[in-house]
Amino acid sequence: MQRALHEQGAEFLLVPASADFRWLTGARAHVSERLLCLVVPKSGAPACIVPTLEAEALGAECPWLERIAWDDDRDPWPLLGGRLGLERRPALLLAEGFRVGPLLALAERTRCKPAGPALELLRAVKDADELKLLATAGAHADQVVMETAEWMRAGMTEREVQRFVFDRFEELGDTDTWAIVASGPNSALPHYMTGQRRLEDGDVVVLDVGAYTEGYASDITRTFWLGTPPADAEKVYGIVDEARRAGIAAIRAGVPAEAVDRAARAVIERAGYGPSFLHRTGHGVGLEIHEPPYLVGGNQRPLAAGMTHSVEPGIYLNGRFGVRLEDIVAVEEGGARRLNDAPFVPVPQRVRG
Ligand code: ZN
Ligand code: ZN
Repeated sequence: MQRALHEQGAEFLLVPASADFRWLTGARAHVSERLLCLVVPKSGAPACIVPTLEAEALGAECPWLERIAWDDDRDPWPLLGGRLGLERRPALLLAEGFRVGPLLALAERTRCKPAGPALELLRAVKDADELKLLATAGAHADQVVMETAEWMRAGMTEREVQRFVFDRFEELGDTDTWAIVASGPNSALPHYMTGQRRLEDGDVVVLDVGAYTEGYASDITRTFWLGTPPADAEKVYGIVDEARRAGIAAIRAGVPAEAVDRAARAVIERAGYGPSFLHRTGHGVGLEIHEPPYLVGGNQRPLAAGMTHSVEPGIYLNGRFGVRLEDIVAVEEGGARRLNDAPFVPVPQRVRG
């Protein structure tokens, strides 16, 4: 980051509580109305403006980091301003996540621009430890999605199924679980908010679930049916699966991100369902569930070895049903390595009776 500050002619990088903060320090921080801000100078050691009540926990997670604590009855701005030398109108790079108040105050008194372009590139390529955590997260997601498919039955509500997902991830030690359980016509809504609908015989059910393993995200989607699905569901499933395989086959270091989207989308368009594929083919996954690289038309940035992202084509037939299949992959020099290996079988194996 200090090299990036030099390249961009900026004096400081400021980072509020966020995934960037965690990536740079290794520590977790509360997102709240209290000002917490990592200050990275272009040379020398960083420091962190931190509320006194959080200072000790931060010190335990990163003892090497200078902490500038402020009490609730004090104004943290003079502390930050003093560090930055506001009277000189310093040039800053700002990471994502500032509240509007501090953001506008900084915009008024400094020359600032987004740190995103520099930070994103650094964060997008994962090191060996990060890849290991993402693989563990992926294995947990494989297990949970298949156990859920085996367990769910007609008559349960989507929320009941969601709770099962939460419990299973919790038992595996993961945190911040989320789950889209979209049944019947709800499966045609890609970002459906799981509700109280009861699963019915003949439903298509989309399970899109994930959680965090030591901070690193999982994100998997499988589509199932209960009993006999609508007549064209098998055909649509086959097309989406072919699109998924075409997308993965297009991945290797050096190809533009949009080429993966084009490869997956071409399959769906050829089958006549182009307008029913409502979203990009994928997104990066790391400390955040959605982060660069984005596999989307127009993104000509090349993929690089060590990037991790989803491949998740879908076909959504409004009012009827939808099918989406999603894996996380790691980009390698000559191809993609899948971090998920849950099978693609729309009828769950009822292994546990
Ligand atoms: Zn997903
Ligand atoms: Zn996803």
